[in-house]
Amino acid sequence: MRTIFRDDHLLFRDQVQRFINERILPHYAAWEAAGVTPRALWREAGAQGLLNSALPAPYGADGDFGHAVVVIEELARANCLGIGFSIHSDMVAPYLLNLGSTVQKDRWLAKMAAGELIGAIAMTEPGAGSDLKAIRTRAVRDGEHYVLSGQKTFITNGVNAGLVIVVASTEPELGARGLSLFCVEEGLPGFSKGPALRKIGQHAQDTCELFFDEVRLPVDCLLGEANAGFEYLGRELARERLAIALRAAASAEGMLEQTKAYTRERKVFGKRVIDHQSNRFTLADAQARLHMLRVFLDDCVRQLMAGTLDPVVAAMAKLNASEMQGQILDDLLQLYGGYGYSSEYGIGRAWADARALRIFGGTSEIMREIIGRAL
Ligand SMILES: Cc1cc2nc3c(=O)[nH]c(=O)nc-3n(C[C@H](O)[C@H](O)[C@H](O)COP(=O)(O)OP(=O)(O)OC[C@H]3O[C@@H](n4cnc5c(N)ncnc54)[C@H](O)[C@@H]3O)c2cc1C
Repeated sequence: MRTIFRDDHLLFRDQVQRFINERILPHYAAWEAAGVTPRALWREAGAQGLLNSALPAPYGADGDFGHAVVVIEELARANCLGIGFSIHSDMVAPYLLNLGSTVQKDRWLAKMAAGELIGAIAMTEPGAGSDLKAIRTRAVRDGEHYVLSGQKTFITNGVNAGLVIVVASTEPELGARGLSLFCVEEGLPGFSKGPALRKIGQHAQDTCELFFDEVRLPVDCLLGEANAGFEYLGRELARERLAIALRAAASAEGMLEQTKAYTRERKVFGKRVIDHQSNRFTLADAQARLHMLRVFLDDCVRQLMAGTLDPVVAAMAKLNASEMQGQILDDLLQLYGGYGYSSEYGIGRAWADARALRIFGGTSEIMREIIGRAL
């Protein structure tokens, strides 16, 4: 029994499940083939309160982080890791809410909640991923403007994004302490996007490269203070990492349920797959590990809602959950035999989609660095 949810969260979960069953699952394969989810889906999700769920009205659906958890978990449990709602709602929107001026919030957040404007965040560059000090994208002050030049890569929601929070260097000699955040709108002269990148999984996700060629940004596009970007990223990453951990856990739980059903149906050597002891032990191990993970993550959610989640604990959550998801999905796939490697049951897609969770939001090695530094 989970104790972190109230009745309104449980009702919301029913609504989110219905939305996924009716509006996402019937079309998901087509979106995978297209490499992008349609913008119309975002507007439908916005109308149902699935975007910016944790933000106060009119900037969001007036819920709390428990509502955000419901959306994150249900999408992952339904094997829809390619839907980019979480970056939009649990990362970009909170940056604007916590750091933005009233003018910035009024301009973008209500539209984001309605799904009329899709958000992305651009840190990674071809030469700078784990090491943000190496960021080369520059923003140079020129009177009442900043002039932004550089390139970003692997940007989730990139193709659809109408608003991108871009991390750029404003004082290169200060390294990571000279980074700032900018709100960059689609359509500005000099801002262009590449096509959706070809990836090994999460095919419905429109991850792409972004290019900035002397984009002139009015100074009011600066988010928060100049040169405080690194500190802001540090503050906000705990929530992003917990969100990734929650996705990882729910994806593995969803696939475990599906695999229990499959192994009860399929017979080998005259017995159901689950009746062979080694297979039952595989399922038992997965169940036991996921139960332990769930208790830990619920505690992290509780701490995040109380404002006490330590970034080191959030790194532990992401490391444990994404590594466990990868190992468990690999074991579960094996129980399907050849069908695991086909696209028939979704386990193969889950396995490939999951691989990214050990990489984005900080790799497992970076999580170990964060935990190791605090030893
Ligand atoms: C599907 C997907 C979506 C993404 N979405 C976004 C997004 O929306 N926005 C965004 O900004 N980025 C995004 N990323 C980028 C992601 O955050 C980076 O790929 C990640 O941070 C790693 O950076 P890198 O790829 O440059 O690898 P590198 O930093 O080049 O790392 C290479 C290897 O070195 C290891 N390594 C690095 N530092 C250390 C160290 N100190 N000790 C030991 N090992 C180390 C890494 O763990 C890795 O194994 C996304 C990536 C993917 C795959």
